[in-house]
This record gives sequence, structure tokens and C-alpha cells, in this order.
Amino acid sequence: MTRALHLSEQLIACRSVTPDDAGCQALIAGRLAPLGFACETLTSGPAGAEVTNLWALRCGKAGAAGKLLVFAGHTDVVPTGPLAAWASDPFVPSHRGGNLHGRGAADMKTSIAAMVVAAEEFVATHADAPGSIAFLVTSDEEGPALDGTVKVCEMLAARGTRLDYCIVGEPTSVDRLGDMIKNGRRGSLSGRLTVRGVQGHVAYPQLASNPVHLAAPAIAELVATVWDAGNAYFPPTGFQISNIHAGTGVGNVIPGELAVDFNFRFSTESTPESLQRRVHALLERHRLDASIDWTLGGEPFLTPVGMLSEALCEAIRAETGLAAQLSTTGGTSDGRFIARLCPQVIEFGPVNASIHKIDEHVAVASIEPLKNVYRRTLEALLT
Ligand SMILES: [Zn+2]
Repeated sequence: MTRALHLSEQLIACRSVTPDDAGCQALIAGRLAPLGFACETLTSGPAGAEVTNLWALRCGKAGAAGKLLVFAGHTDVVPTGPLAAWASDPFVPSHRGGNLHGRGAADMKTSIAAMVVAAEEFVATHADAPGSIAFLVTSDEEGPALDGTVKVCEMLAARGTRLDYCIVGEPTSVDRLGDMIKNGRRGSLSGRLTVRGVQGHVAYPQLASNPVHLAAPAIAELVATVWDAGNAYFPPTGFQISNIHAGTGVGNVIPGELAVDFNFRFSTESTPESLQRRVHALLERHRLDASIDWTLGGEPFLTPVGMLSEALCEAIRAETGLAAQLSTTGGTSDGRFIARLCPQVIEFGPVNASIHKIDEHVAVASIEPLKNVYRRTLEALLT
């Protein structure tokens, strides 16, 4: 069994459902410390639900003058769902049909294992390389993400630590390892729109004011609006309504209020402020008595083609023969926090088809190439 497969299995065996790290980071630090990494553990969050974060840094020969590449990831996993639906215990790594099964196998314990072994191999052959390597690992990526990567980034910013490159090990591949990397993510902005009318009897509409009727043209315009055209890296900003609530449940009452939940997935051509401004202006044009509670789920980030994306793509080509496609699709990730202090952030990891599902798995044959891509990227950027 290879070292990366073995460590993947050890990590899967830890029941690290958010925010519980369940010993994963001790395993990781136990591997990194002998390589010369200084390991710091930062706990954060409410008592009884503390998040565990690991910052591990190995300074290269050039010290602060050298480049710093950060491997970032999370040890936490989403809940299993009904255990009876799994073909095998999600926390007992098992092999079937060439795949390693277990919760976190694809998202993203195999990536973390591959990164650790890549660092071991790199240090074994390039102990005196000028560049530095760090690991930023959290147990709060799948949850609210309030006490995880963002807290470590705040600490690094306060210290003035300069990051040059960051590889996030999220599972980005679609059909085969290496067919896609993410060089950015869209932002997420949610709102709950409340439109107020006057409740009344449906037979006496002149004595009421129906918020559903009042809001319908505005909702139609919100849905039809082109918010931006996207750009070379991002698709156009999208608007989706997820919930609408109005009415008392009976057929003879005009409701007094309408609530609409919506979400923007936005490109770097729009900002949360510009979207909010435009929505409010639209509602004012329709003369609605309305208010909105806004929640910013995440800022977008973008890493244009550069040293990191080119080194990663070259490593992927060498290992898999594939030309990786750059993409910014999918949900938000912790890359958005790291991008605030690191100019180049790219996500790359295994095939994501089974993530968060019953019987999550990763192809065993993809683990060594994944580790080798990470190691080749270290060699390209830090030597
Ligand atoms: Zn993940």
C-alpha cells in the first residue's frame, strides 16, 4: 500500500463530522513535524463545538525572501445520512471496484494525504530548497465557516505573513483526475424580500391590498434582469428564487404579507453593493412597501492565469496527459478567505461526482498521480 493511500485510510477512519476534527490534524502534524514544520493549533468557536485549525510552516533556505506555497484544506466531513444506505461503514475505509470508499474519501481527505506525502517526498529530495511550504487545515469548511480558515487568515494577516501561492485540495475533477481546476469561485448573496399589503376578504378586494399581486411584476422583472454578462473567467451573474411564502392557508383571505427568498451567484463583474443597489431601485420603481434582509454568503475570488495555474497545469499534463480546464463554477469554498492575502489561489483535487453522497469514494488509481501533481508543483515553484 502506498503512503498516500495509507494516510487517506487513516484520515477516513476518523469520525470528523463538522466541526469535530476527531484527531485528523494530530495525524497530519505528526507527519509534518519530523520534516521541520512548526505546527500551531488554533481552536476557535463556542464551547462544546470548537473548531480545530492547523497552521504548519516549514521555512525554506531563503527564509522570508523565498516563495511560500500553502496547501489548504479541511478535515471535516458532512454527515453520512442514513447508515443503512451505505454499502459499508462510512468511517471504515473499504475497497470495492478499484475505489476507496468512505465519508471524506473525495471531499477531501485523500487530497490532504496526497499533499502531506508530496511534502515528504519534496523535502526528502530538496531539503535545502529556497522556498517555504505551509499547511492550512481546518475542521470548519462544511459548516458555517466562521471559526476555520477565516480565523487563520486573520492571524496570518496580523502577523504580516506573505503568501505567494495556495493550492486548495477541493475535489475539482469532473470525469478524470486533472480534467478541471478552479481558478476562482462566484460570490453568493442571499436576500429575504418582505412585501407588505393589507389583509382582507377576497370578496372585498377594495378593502385590502394584495402583496402577491403588487409584487408579481417586480418579481418578473427581477427574474428577467441581466445583471452582468460575466467575463472571460465567470459566467453571467445568476438570480434564483428559492422560496415564496404568502397566505393563511384558507381560500377566502387576501394575505397581508409576501416573503421571497432569493440568491445571487455573482461574478467579479458585480459586487454585493451594486446588486443590492439595483434590487432596491427596482423595488422602488414598482412602489412596493418592501424591505430586504441581506446575507453575504461569500465574496467571489479570481486568480488570472499565472505562475501557479501554469505550474499546476504542466504537472497535470505530465502526470495524466490531460489539459486541465480552468473553471469558476460550483459553490463557495474557503479559497475566498485565502484570496484576501494570497494573490494566486487555485483549487485542485480528485473527481467530485460522489461528494456529500451515500457511498462517497475516490479511484485508488488516482491517488498517486494526485500526490505527484502536488509534488511536481512544489518542485516547479519552490526550487
Ligand atoms: Zn470540501
